[in-house]
Amino acid sequence: MSWEDNVHKVIPYVPGEQPKGNIIKLNTNENPYPPSPKVKAALESFDTDELRLYPDVNGGELLDKLSEVYGIDKDKIFIGVGSDDVLSVAFQTFFAGKAPILFPDVTYSFYDVWAELYNIPYRTIPLNEDFRIVKEDYLCANGGIVIPNPNAPTGVEKSIEDLEYIISSNPDSVVIIDEAYVDFGARSVLPLIDRYDNLLVVQTFSKSFCMAGVRIGMAFGNRRLIKYMNDVKFSINSYTINRLTVAAGVAMLEDEDYLKEVRSKVVATRERVKGQLKELGFSFPDSRTNFIFASHEKISAKDIFEAAKKKGIYVRWWDKLRIYDYLRITIGTDEQMDTFIAFLREFINGYI
Ligand SMILES: *Cc1c(COP(=O)(O)O)cnc(C)c1O
Repeated sequence: MSWEDNVHKVIPYVPGEQPKGNIIKLNTNENPYPPSPKVKAALESFDTDELRLYPDVNGGELLDKLSEVYGIDKDKIFIGVGSDDVLSVAFQTFFAGKAPILFPDVTYSFYDVWAELYNIPYRTIPLNEDFRIVKEDYLCANGGIVIPNPNAPTGVEKSIEDLEYIISSNPDSVVIIDEAYVDFGARSVLPLIDRYDNLLVVQTFSKSFCMAGVRIGMAFGNRRLIKYMNDVKFSINSYTINRLTVAAGVAMLEDEDYLKEVRSKVVATRERVKGQLKELGFSFPDSRTNFIFASHEKISAKDIFEAAKKKGIYVRWWDKLRIYDYLRITIGTDEQMDTFIAFLREFINGYI
């Protein structure tokens, strides 16, 4: 007998590498552009005396600002420490049933980690050969459903109509739509939260808001869903949103023009890179995100991944069934993408 017999042993989620130094980082879907100058100003003028006091348990001014900008009542919004925290609380809150929860087989690789950690039975539903979600596959008995839209790491968007079909066909399950990438040109199901009391929409400041380092995520849903999530949150840690986070988040939300500009820059770069990748012999499902999930006609993804890394360019590759031949390439600045494309051109020419 040892204390180790009593350890809750888990296999953790493996985040993308965060290497230091002069590298081109296209591996964790961060935004290549900095937050608005208003964020800098807000942090510089922050009154550090305030740090003596606990923050507001619900996010205070950040909640007020989100409510104003999204036009959604405050008691229909939950704020967490990034959407990973929001999703983790949602899993603990809504998936206490006996039937398995459902999510796609190729998807965000944190879902099965939480399911294991919280002892939630789950079943993965295969995407079709085009990496698309088949809506009829989500009609079987289940204890809940999680779908990212657009999906990660594929970048594929599912139509609002198809998602509504899944949500309305499962009135006895909470359906979580993880919209981490929705601001890069996809449509949001947010307008449906008043129609379906089983719909929870999760978004994040990490990608389209240029603030992965600040850790803000939010969920939108009807009052009862949000109340149940708060009950769980207040059973773990009430003061999750610190005062500096609130100041930075509010300032970012106050600069909608900047956000629009940054997002359209990323989308324009993505569309340009799609053309270049095609010319180089890559194919990929059409992306509505800030990344492209691409496979080369001749060269293995692993070889490209390793060669790029040697040149200081980091993309993401998984040693996993079905997606072994794919690279997930985050859209960086135009300059970064030019360097990456130049590397690919040289590597592919030398290889073939
Ligand atoms: C990035 C990502 C998240 C979590 O991001 P946070 O930084 O924790 O907000 C959640 N879901 C998907 C699908 C993601 O790609």
